[in-house]
Amino acid sequence: MSSQMRTLPPWRSDRRRIPAFPPSERRLVRYRLAPLAAAAVLSLPLMWVSAPAQAQVKPCVGHGTDAAVQSPIEIDRSKSCPGHGPAIAIHYPNSVDGTLLFQDKAPLGEISEHDDVRFVIGTGGTQPYITYGGERYNLNNVHFHGHAEHKFAGQATAPLEAHFVHTKATGTGYVVFGVMIDAKTFLGQTQHDRLIKSPPALGASKPITGIHLNDMLPADRATYRYTGSLTTPDEVGNYFQPVNWVVFDKHSKAHRLNVLGYRALWGAEGNFRELQENHPAANIYSYH
Ligand SMILES: [Zn+2]
Repeated sequence: MSSQMRTLPPWRSDRRRIPAFPPSERRLVRYRLAPLAAAAVLSLPLMWVSAPAQAQVKPCVGHGTDAAVQSPIEIDRSKSCPGHGPAIAIHYPNSVDGTLLFQDKAPLGEISEHDDVRFVIGTGGTQPYITYGGERYNLNNVHFHGHAEHKFAGQATAPLEAHFVHTKATGTGYVVFGVMIDAKTFLGQTQHDRLIKSPPALGASKPITGIHLNDMLPADRATYRYTGSLTTPDEVGNYFQPVNWVVFDKHSKAHRLNVLGYRALWGAEGNFRELQENHPAANIYSYH
């Protein structure tokens, strides 16, 4: 480490920890820090305030745990803490090709709660990925649960939830985006509709091209994050931990008829895991 780096003030050394998305997040971080107090402490022009803010945020103490809990969970916005975790940057190409798969998990040959319809990213084109704390996680698939698995306290459970599963490029690790999908009536179709409206038969797949992943995320990229688990088990019944969950605050949408059609594949049982009670509960961090 050079002497120049050693003499960097603490807010400079922490800069890489500042979340890279969304731009509105930085604005809010700046606001949250209370500009006058920050300027007094740091003796800096306000243009610097967004950088040290994360280092100044109070830790999320007294509520729950940062260790991995079982997912999904109810997210109580009023009990969330200001986020100060790893920066996320989304690198999704405008158009992605892949395979639409009706994944059949045990018991095989019949539609069961752990099955889902998923867009499996193709290997031929530009790989969509994110960086999380500077490390690369490739988008492996986008799949759907009906009804939603996560739930916001005080709100009805959304009819669908999309999971964007990112796996660490080197080593083992998950970052999963959760996006609630509302059932609406409108002309045309969303990218979610394209994936759910006419799935292949159970266990079968078919090619699908030109999926616009960026349009599947809410335009407002405020999120809640916690450390949890996968919501489907492995072959021996374990729900893998830890999973870095990033649940979007705002909802996306799909056409009501397509949502009903997807839900009808499972009937009343659905393909969701029940909300998990964790003791202690997970600390939930907000990024706005
Ligand atoms: Zn899932």
